[in-house]
Amino acid sequence: MRINVLTIFPDYLEGPLGLSIPGRAREAGLVEYRLIDVRAYTDDRHRTTDDEPFGGGGGMVMKPEPFDAALTALDRPGRVISLSPRGRPFDHETAVRFALEPDLTLLCGRYKGIDERVIDARVDEEISIGDYVLSGGEPAALVVIDAVVRLLPGALGDHDSASSDSFYDGSLSAPSYTRPAEHGGRHVPDVLRSGDHPRIERWRAAQADAATRRRRPDLLDLDAAD
Ligand code: SAH
Repeated sequence: MRINVLTIFPDYLEGPLGLSIPGRAREAGLVEYRLIDVRAYTDDRHRTTDDEPFGGGGGMVMKPEPFDAALTALDRPGRVISLSPRGRPFDHETAVRFALEPDLTLLCGRYKGIDERVIDARVDEEISIGDYVLSGGEPAALVVIDAVVRLLPGALGDHDSASSDSFYDGSLSAPSYTRPAEHGGRHVPDVLRSGDHPRIERWRAAQADAATRRRRPDLLDLDAAD
């Protein structure tokens, strides 16, 4: 899979994409990241990527031409995603869907966002990572990339398998414990130390179900509506 990111701050992403699971997946050849500096696609002396908004109101807007030129220069854009608080909320299903794409291109805005004509003409989907406003699309792109890449076959070792994680089967996960068996006066539930794996599985399923009912009943309602 190839993931292109269009940004005026490629340095913002370079570090995190070299670490942990996204970094290991790149080393294993499962994914390639292309960080594209939108500023390189400007043609004025000041390499301007923003301008004042039509209609006034303050803030700056990212000019359409540099994004347009950067997109045109891509040989394999694949599905083009714009990160935006106005987009559809990102979730597990969307991560799975993106993980099945051979190529993805993520557009990171800044200031008031990218000129809407780029979104209309070049973008397949707008995605939000939540109901709050970031200063730029870069942290949102990292969230999307991390969630997608860990779903690529072979990206996770056995020890961090995705199938027991939250949302994989529509519920939250059971809580996790490690050594020591007692910490700060709190004990690991006996069942987890029993060696009785069917019982452990039943306990985990019950814990997952209880946590989901208590914390995220919306997840269960969604399932029931399917
Ligand atoms: N004026 C816009 C906000 C712009 S914030 C509005 O009110 O809708 C600047 C940039 O940060 C956006 O272009 C987008 O790329 C990114 N961004 C901000 N919040 C985001 C969110 N919740 N999800 C994804 N991207 C976000």
